[in-house]
Amino acid sequence: MSEYRIASIPGDGIGVDVTVEARKVLDRAAAGHGFSLRWTEFDWSCERYSKTGAMMPDDGVAQLAAFDGILLGAVGFPGVPDHVSLWGLLIPLRRAFQQYVNLRPVRLLPGTSSVLSGRSADELEMVIVRENSEGEYSAIGGRHNSGRPDEFVLQESVFTRVGVERIIRYAFELARTRSSRVTSATKSNGLIHSMPFWDEIFAEVAAKYPDVESGQMHVDALAARMVQAPDRLDVVVGSNLFGDILSDLAAAITGGLGMAPSGNINPSGEFPSMFEAVHGSAPDIAGQGIANPVAQILAGAMLLEHLGEPVAAQAIRTSVDEVLTAGAELTPDLGGTATTTRLGTAVAEALR
Ligand code: ATP
Ligand code: MG
Repeated sequence: MSEYRIASIPGDGIGVDVTVEARKVLDRAAAGHGFSLRWTEFDWSCERYSKTGAMMPDDGVAQLAAFDGILLGAVGFPGVPDHVSLWGLLIPLRRAFQQYVNLRPVRLLPGTSSVLSGRSADELEMVIVRENSEGEYSAIGGRHNSGRPDEFVLQESVFTRVGVERIIRYAFELARTRSSRVTSATKSNGLIHSMPFWDEIFAEVAAKYPDVESGQMHVDALAARMVQAPDRLDVVVGSNLFGDILSDLAAAITGGLGMAPSGNINPSGEFPSMFEAVHGSAPDIAGQGIANPVAQILAGAMLLEHLGEPVAAQAIRTSVDEVLTAGAELTPDLGGTATTTRLGTAVAEALR
């Protein structure tokens, strides 16, 4: 029987509550599909930062390196600035483990209300591949002529051939396992240096995948298409900024933050990949036991898929769909009165 070593970092706020439920569901799925998960829990969090001055120990990266996968809750705490949790944990892990793909599968979940409710689930089944390591989110630039009428700022983007090529290649490889269509988000009419470079590399990679249908759209038009004709999209690949915006839009139109999972993937498998719900620690509802655990449970399903257990992963998604369709155990964000634990237990018990 295979055993996988998984690091769990529940973090802060509702990250803790939803991670408990995800573990419960994953363990049950593992038992039903002939493998087991050996969990090691880490208390790395803003709470730890408040006590010790560090989100994680100095050798944190080294401690995680040998794991088969990482399940992350959420980090964040009122009073602790966002850059602390970002630079104290998330960014060092993403960088050290070369998780240059941020993967956001998007599915219209049953029983949820959204602007797209009423469409069939298979009309809306796509995956957003966001570049996770460079691009627009750069520290290069600065403010000039402060306080003068000619004050200005410069904010540089960095796109490397290696960085652009590998994310686009990942999108094409992924498309081969799905319905075989890749759409690239561009804006080469406005961003006249970075985006033509992106487009050029997209065309080069596309030529190597003649079996995959490919196209590109300006990101503004693509955002509109996502709402108006989402059935025409399958794999969507975008830069760090465009991917960020498109994936939140996609989450919003398919049932909201409580339902959206994501993965920070190291495609080579040399280092562990890290899976998490898109939402944060949600201080406004922390400690009340009412957070929706579905996003984290689906992040767990992505983890199993990544480990090479797609049947167990699919069983989890099916069981989430069943529980949402039944509608008896829904958390308040879905219009119900169930607790986090009750929804998590319902999903675990629906597993076959
Ligand atoms: P952080 O600083 O950790 O990013 P945040 O203040 O940005 O936290 P989010 O966690 O991103 O908050 O949540 C934004 C809103 O969505 C909050 O009002 C929160 O209550 C709600 N929300 C987020 N996740 C869930 C969930 N799993 N279940 C129910 N509501 C949620
Ligand atoms: Mg947030």
